[in-house]
Amino acid sequence: MTTATGTDALRALAQGAGRDLEEASASEILTWAAETFGRRLCVTSSMEDAVVAHLASRALPGIDVVFLDTGYHFPETIGTRDAVQAVMDVNVITLTPRLSVAEQDAEYGPRLHDRDPDLCCAMRKVAPLDAGLENYDAWVTGLRRDESPTRANTPVVAFDEKRRKVKISPIARWTQEDVEQYVAEHGVLTNPLLMDGYGSVGCAPCTRRLLAGEDTRAGRWSGRGKTECGIHT
Ligand code: SF4
Repeated sequence: MTTATGTDALRALAQGAGRDLEEASASEILTWAAETFGRRLCVTSSMEDAVVAHLASRALPGIDVVFLDTGYHFPETIGTRDAVQAVMDVNVITLTPRLSVAEQDAEYGPRLHDRDPDLCCAMRKVAPLDAGLENYDAWVTGLRRDESPTRANTPVVAFDEKRRKVKISPIARWTQEDVEQYVAEHGVLTNPLLMDGYGSVGCAPCTRRLLAGEDTRAGRWSGRGKTECGIHT
């Protein structure tokens, strides 16, 4: 567990790096992260694509890639996870919620995601991630400023006060075109649903295809007044 002194040091480190690395490339940011944190660094991935995992594996071969298996994923997402583990130089770690979907249905009633998606996300995403990140000092996300208005101010490096970890978003300044170019140049794995009308891939009951002109994340929790699962807020 991070000590109080360690927390202060990590916060100062993150604040300095956030300033110093704002204009750095994704590779430069991840090289700094690998040299600073070593095996106390992990990547979190929704398995929408493996771009950040690919970038991170070049900076730190064998890096842990943390995936949250909510029990509600599309089969294509689980297949992407398995393919990432099979072909990339990473160590995929799958985190699961305390309750299975059947246990949650029995305790809270079926389709909690329709009635109280914040509670469902808190139990199936946020709590397992919070516990899983205890093993690390820093975590890497794939957040981008162009994904939605709520992500427009994402720093490349910041201190995550809630978890007391350094939070690194090396592709924060990238555009959708940058991602597509990187995927094409490096043959990076992507979730097949991205080729089937989805702009962002989350749990099946809470994800729909995009309509023309929508933000990439508009298909998540559509019509439920919710834009984030709580991991990044
Ligand atoms: Fe539940 Fe939907 Fe959140 Fe998945 S995205 S954890 S199904 S509310």
